[in-house]
Amino acid sequence: MAFGRRRRYRLRVIRTKRLEFNLVEHCNLRCLECSHLSPWMPRKFADFGTFRKDLEALGAVLRCETFKFGGGEPLLHPRLEEFLGFVRASGIAQDITLVTNGTEIREQPDSLFRLIDRLDFSRYEGTPTGPEHVEFAKRKCGEFSVRFKLLDKQEFRTMQLDRPNEDRELVRRIYHSCGIAHVFRAHVFRDGWYYKCSRPPFTGAYLEVRGLPGVDLSKCDGVAIHEPELESRLERYIADMAPLESCRYCLGTVGKGVVQRQMSASELRRAGADSRKPEDLVDFELLAFEEKRAGAGGPLPRKFPNRAIGKLATRLAGARPDRKKAPPRDGERPDHAGGG
Ligand code: SF4
Repeated sequence: MAFGRRRRYRLRVIRTKRLEFNLVEHCNLRCLECSHLSPWMPRKFADFGTFRKDLEALGAVLRCETFKFGGGEPLLHPRLEEFLGFVRASGIAQDITLVTNGTEIREQPDSLFRLIDRLDFSRYEGTPTGPEHVEFAKRKCGEFSVRFKLLDKQEFRTMQLDRPNEDRELVRRIYHSCGIAHVFRAHVFRDGWYYKCSRPPFTGAYLEVRGLPGVDLSKCDGVAIHEPELESRLERYIADMAPLESCRYCLGTVGKGVVQRQMSASELRRAGADSRKPEDLVDFELLAFEEKRAGAGGPLPRKFPNRAIGKLATRLAGARPDRKKAPPRDGERPDHAGGG
């Protein structure tokens, strides 16, 4: 069994909503504005030994509602089931979700469907997935009592910036309204580091492909998993409402909408910074709406993973958390690609 008895029954643990892991960092599609930047990532399949070590350390201090396997396209990983089985045995998550673009779904064995609780099938225009892929996935999910969700993505939100946003106030507003960090709490771990979102480990690699090397945010914006006092460092990190360095390169969940499409190979290889300014790419109406929803421009997230982190955030921010109830969300990351 993955985790020892003492750890398994530990009472006080950090609770978060979603823990995400990119099984494969590259993808067989080229979606514009992929939220995991997969079209720009070099080929990388996750190493099982590293994953196991990281998950064991995290499992000692943390539990999540959903463990989400994504990518890139996770079905490209030849040892996919080993990863799924390990998470299931660990007990770290109530629920295991696999996110796929569906291109490889018909090649999957029944054993895969026995290891998941939910399949999120992202269907994109202009790709090889057709009704036959969707029907296959639906049928298999029905057979194995897996929840099936078809996500038809017609529009994504602009997210990545090629140059740092120098407007500190705008960076603060984007971060405080960021649904990924504060509402969906789609935390990510990778190669010994824990992050609030997928940007810190991938922004540097993206900029390098765009001909803008020298930016590595993977260490400054995360928590080292194998250093002492992981629990207190994680609590502090999750509660901290200061924007990440990565937020200077990101529009969070308030970028302008773009029609989803597949990029051409030459478009992908095109180097050089996008000349558009961050303020031209923000959907200010949506930003204002999100700020209002969060409560009078409140700098704190609407809901904390647990009371200890809420208190810590209050202390760090020197303010009371806003207890105003937010309108219900459907629990999905809106209009963003990524993870298959
Ligand atoms: S980099 Fe900042 S704004 Fe972007 S997704 Fe992460 S936390 Fe949100």
